Amino acid sequence: MANADLHIDLRTAVRELCSRFPDSYWRELDAKEAYPEEFIRTLTEAGYLAALIPEALGGSGLGIAEASIILEEVNRSGGNSAACHAQMYIMGTLLRHGSEAQRGHYLPQIASGALRLQAFGVTEPTTGTDTTQMKTMAVRRGDRYVVNGQKVWISRVAHSDLMLLVARTTPLEEVKKRTEGLSVLLVDLREAIGHGMTVRPIRAMINHASTEVFFDNLEVPVDNRIGEEGQGFRYLLDGLNAERILIAAECVGDGRWFIDRACRYARDRVVFGRPIGQNQGIQFPIARSHVNVEAADLMRIRAAELFDDGQSCGAEANMAKLLAADASWEAANVTMQTYGGFGFAEEYDIERKFRETRLYQTAPISTNLILAYIGQHVLDLPRSF
Ligand SMILES: Cc1cc2nc3c(=O)[nH]c(=O)nc-3n(C[C@H](O)[C@H](O)[C@H](O)COP(=O)(O)OP(=O)(O)OC[C@H]3O[C@@H](n4cnc5c(N)ncnc54)[C@H](O)[C@@H]3O)c2cc1C
Repeated sequence: MANADLHIDLRTAVRELCSRFPDSYWRELDAKEAYPEEFIRTLTEAGYLAALIPEALGGSGLGIAEASIILEEVNRSGGNSAACHAQMYIMGTLLRHGSEAQRGHYLPQIASGALRLQAFGVTEPTTGTDTTQMKTMAVRRGDRYVVNGQKVWISRVAHSDLMLLVARTTPLEEVKKRTEGLSVLLVDLREAIGHGMTVRPIRAMINHASTEVFFDNLEVPVDNRIGEEGQGFRYLLDGLNAERILIAAECVGDGRWFIDRACRYARDRVVFGRPIGQNQGIQFPIARSHVNVEAADLMRIRAAELFDDGQSCGAEANMAKLLAADASWEAANVTMQTYGGFGFAEEYDIERKFRETRLYQTAPISTNLILAYIGQHVLDLPRSF
């Protein structure tokens, strides 16, 4: 099947699935801070979360272009891919750097949904974006690592069986480069929680199932290390382009959802005897945000093409994420304004999506850090850190 046909068919199928989960479904979950268990089960059973796993390992062996269409459509429907996007891409570290035995054991089970690997432990309270300064240590004792430390904002831990943990295996003072000495461990949460690992939910502005995680002599078998010891930072960077492209697509989905809603409301809402959308003060901001969402989408498509073609795409993936996050946030703001006071009422879902799409200015990477990447690595400007 030609790519264009595949994409149309895929879009239609995901849209149909999402239509079974209306606004009210997401609104009620948001109010209860509950996980979209039924939606995730349905998406998993349809095979969509295994899009990036090769067919030989039980997945559908699709490209990032197709994976990104799936997540875009979830957000376009009014849902929130953040509940499941990580199941799609975290396994990439295992796929690219895991041993034959690890891949053969875990990936078919992740593809079928029997195992959920959708927690990724990187951020720490005192180091933030400066990842190489992380304090969590994994010290080798025989055939185990003993882990001590703390992570923050680790999402979906309560809805995962496995977590990828990044920890220092060589202290910072003993490495030549600060990017050395970090390692990636696959933590089996079913064994770890209550046996050296404690999880505390964080109440937040959005329903994101985020937690604080504490390690107190947690033991992880050395066999659960992914790739070489000390090379974790490289593996981390390696997965970022996929993440950037997928998040960009989610933002495009959000942007289109907002613009659909804004247009609908601007056509129907009559004030001073005419639809508010007839006023250029309402119409032009919507038109401008539409232009920006569509432009961001082109960069996302370009980044996905390069990625699927095996070419370097760091610049394009980062630019796509920045443009799409800005465009969805602009569309959110414009839609809020278009709805007037009703934008604040939960029953219209604008305020919920507004809160949800705001995240992408900050996580998984903040806007400033993308600009720093573009400045330093694309434009060869002096490093600022
Ligand atoms: C809902 C949610 C879910 C998350 N899920 C996960 C998860 O599953 N796993 C995980 O590991 N992390 C997760 N995170 C963490 C997220 O990746 C970080 O919050 C994000 O990377 C920013 O780090 P920080 O919060 O420590 O901000 P900081 O690093 O403290 O930065 C604060 C601000 O200062 C700016 N800043 C810092 N340094 C510079 C500089 N040199 N130049 C210019 N500006 C700078 C940043 O851009 C940011 O705006 C999540 C966060 C949230 C809010």
